[in-house]
Amino acid sequence: MSLNIAVLGAGLMGRLLAVELARSGHRVAVYERGGSDGQTAAAHIAAAMLAPWAESVVSEPVIVELGLASLERWPRIIAALLRPVFFQQAGTLVVWHPQDRDQAIQFSARLRTLDPGLRGGDRVREISGTDIQTLEPALGQRFAQGIYLAGEGQLDNRSLLDALLAQLEASAVALHWHTETAPDHIRADWIIDCRGLGAKPEWRTLRGVRGEVVRVQSSEVGLTRPVRLLHPRYPLYIAPKPGGVYVIGATQIETEDTSPASVRSALELLSALYAVHPAFGEARILELAAHCRPALPDNLPEIRWDGGRLIQVNGLYRHGYLIAPAVMEAALALLRRVAERGGADLESWCAAQPFPSLYRR
Ligand SMILES: Cc1cc2nc3c(=O)[nH]c(=O)nc-3n(C[C@H](O)[C@H](O)[C@H](O)COP(=O)(O)OP(=O)(O)OC[C@H]3O[C@@H](n4cnc5c(N)ncnc54)[C@H](O)[C@@H]3O)c2cc1C
Repeated sequence: MSLNIAVLGAGLMGRLLAVELARSGHRVAVYERGGSDGQTAAAHIAAAMLAPWAESVVSEPVIVELGLASLERWPRIIAALLRPVFFQQAGTLVVWHPQDRDQAIQFSARLRTLDPGLRGGDRVREISGTDIQTLEPALGQRFAQGIYLAGEGQLDNRSLLDALLAQLEASAVALHWHTETAPDHIRADWIIDCRGLGAKPEWRTLRGVRGEVVRVQSSEVGLTRPVRLLHPRYPLYIAPKPGGVYVIGATQIETEDTSPASVRSALELLSALYAVHPAFGEARILELAAHCRPALPDNLPEIRWDGGRLIQVNGLYRHGYLIAPAVMEAALALLRRVAERGGADLESWCAAQPFPSLYRR
């Protein structure tokens, strides 16, 4: 069945869904408030780490489940795109300074509370300073102990957004840039609302959680995988991207303020970066940016059907890249189900899905 579908919002979820819907033969139109460069999306700022275990210490187990399922799907999604996208699964290195050992004890303790089936077995392991040096020679002997989360991944968000755009342009999708809109204003068989925080007028419990990141370029340091520094006040991650670029982040502040990054945040992020390796002192600052993560009260993602023609996908919070493929599949499955059979027996259908907690009405 070929449907006429409008996708609102061309950030991460909107682009992924629109590409997949067009590939399945639907007639798709995309409406986006900003331009094709994606600069108005949280997806543009994100570090795009795919870190189910590192995130498990601050998230519900379902995020780990969605993340592990999505990690399997990303390579296939990326391979089907016309343009290459940097993606790797070289693990994450977690380190701390000796005075912050308590943070490491807490981190390990929280990891151990995960169900053994989700804990990753020997893919999550405590390692010595020598192991750290072997994994990341650039860190030398700077850290005496660490935790290695083997198999965690990351991708280059900006090349992904560009590649998804190229895919949309190459298919027959109607692209409406600089078009701020709402479900009530759109005529289509089906509307999928992926406006992130822009959906707040219709989804009152949404809130923004501000995050600030720094992008630097360094030819001297040469990290090959994301490094997380545990710290009581300034926990940070350093995510290497192609071309000697590193994304350092991220603050987490309960406000919907999207004004430029503050001096305090810049100082905190850059001081912690310098403490990981003084050679970062010579890195060039490419960008200081801020955006808000779209979050629901329980910080979990949600897919809602209004009983009519509208499906809403939101609440991806700080895990959008980590969980997007599994959430996208769940949204597509719901669309197929309600387009074919409406609401008949929907509750039992939802309960039988791989991630039933995603569906709410
Ligand atoms: C600092 C920071 C770091 C992050 N790091 C990570 C990370 O390492 N790993 C990870 O998994 N996730 C990370 N995230 C989270 C991730 O970026 C988000 O979860 C994800 O982008 C949410 O996707 P979305 O499509 O719902 O929203 P968005 O990406 O924000 O896209 C929403 C789109 O809708 C458009 N829009 C809004 N209102 C309207 C309207 N009225 N009409 C038309 N269009 C509209 C917007 O312009 C935007 O393009 C990070 C986020 C931030 C801010």
